[in-house]
Amino acid sequence: MTIDVSRRRVLELGVGAALATPALAAAGGAPVAQRDRDSVGVAVVGLGKLSQEQILPALKRTKGVHLAALVSGVPAKAKKWATEFGLSDSAIYDYANFDTIARDPKIQIVYIVLPNSMHADFTVRSFKAGKHVLCEKPMAVTLAECERMIAAGKAAKRQLMIAYRCQFEPVNVTAMQLMRKGTIGVPRLINTVMGKQTTLSYSSDAWRLDMAMSGGGALADMGIYGINATRYLLGEEPTEVRAWARTDKSDPRFKTVEDMIVWQMRFPSGAIGDGSSCFSQPGTMTWQAIGTERRLVADPGCFYGGNAMRIVGGQNEAQPKVAEIDHFGNEMNWFADVVRGRSPNVAPGEEGLQDMRIMHAMMQSVNTGGAAVKTVYGYKRTYDPAATVGIRTEI
Ligand code: NAD
Repeated sequence: MTIDVSRRRVLELGVGAALATPALAAAGGAPVAQRDRDSVGVAVVGLGKLSQEQILPALKRTKGVHLAALVSGVPAKAKKWATEFGLSDSAIYDYANFDTIARDPKIQIVYIVLPNSMHADFTVRSFKAGKHVLCEKPMAVTLAECERMIAAGKAAKRQLMIAYRCQFEPVNVTAMQLMRKGTIGVPRLINTVMGKQTTLSYSSDAWRLDMAMSGGGALADMGIYGINATRYLLGEEPTEVRAWARTDKSDPRFKTVEDMIVWQMRFPSGAIGDGSSCFSQPGTMTWQAIGTERRLVADPGCFYGGNAMRIVGGQNEAQPKVAEIDHFGNEMNWFADVVRGRSPNVAPGEEGLQDMRIMHAMMQSVNTGGAAVKTVYGYKRTYDPAATVGIRTEI
């Protein structure tokens, strides 16, 4: 059987995109793909691990969106990537002269790939410059920052999308479609486990281990995938959460942030979400959806590549065969279509704010010994990725 809910091509990426694993980080030197005639120009802000290993390589293959500028505090790094993409020095900005992007019509989207505490300011500055914004997760550090970002986008009449790549990833989108079809029966429990090891001396981890810059350690960095997955798998919003922390306070990594946080979320349907996030375990991004008839098991479920899902519990259950694609390319192409008025914004600022509110409720629960915290914020998703994001799946 073929499920095809696609409204558009899955992705205008070449064959190479099918292998979008971390190994592709070494794709330097690859030619830049021929782009659509109305391809949208993007400025990438922050040239750290994610930009250099995933986003810039993906931008070599996308057709709906192309690299138009680089924003970095390290001129040599920006120059290297500009050369690789055939961009001139005028396409290189730093954090101080960033606002002059307003005068650069080649930039239509700003993709913010900075530490979390910098997301709000650069989002607001981008809107003031008249650009659309794709902002990495978590949306920001405080709820007030999220509100400010949403308001700035509305004032500027520009689009804000939070970079929830798994909402554009075939295994996760297929799982959402199966959940909506009732494949597992009545959903009972969504379990998510998200974590990795961290090293204080590694610059990419150092700010993640700093509460002021990350806004919540492992919960904000990794737990957010589990919270978001629980919400999109169930297609509903939690009414109450409880959470506990397990942190070795003598470990120098955890002076300001918690290590492991374990939570429970209660949903209106009666389903329960339970999950954990941790910064002292091997890399793990797995989820399981348990219903009255079957289970969906994805391990890994949210890696950059190699995700796989099994249906467990039925008689000779056909297993989904899901094509692997480049999450970041798909997400950027999607946002280009949002900007061009061809696709709905499935992950707007309000979606990012909802996860932020839930994470803050969890932290409040941790600080009150696991007390239940109500999470009825009145948020309702406008577009369900299960029905909107086109993925072709064979099962
Ligand atoms: P990183 O530390 O590797 O890169 C951050 C960049 O910001 C670096 O180039 C750094 O030089 C620059 N920077 C500017 N000012 C800084 C300051 N004051 N302190 C520290 N760095 C500063 O981080 P990363 O892993 O690339 O993450 C960047 C963003 O992307 C974060 O918001 C993170 O949550 C998000 N992220 C998302 C995914 C995903 O799968 N969607 C994966 C990884 C990271």
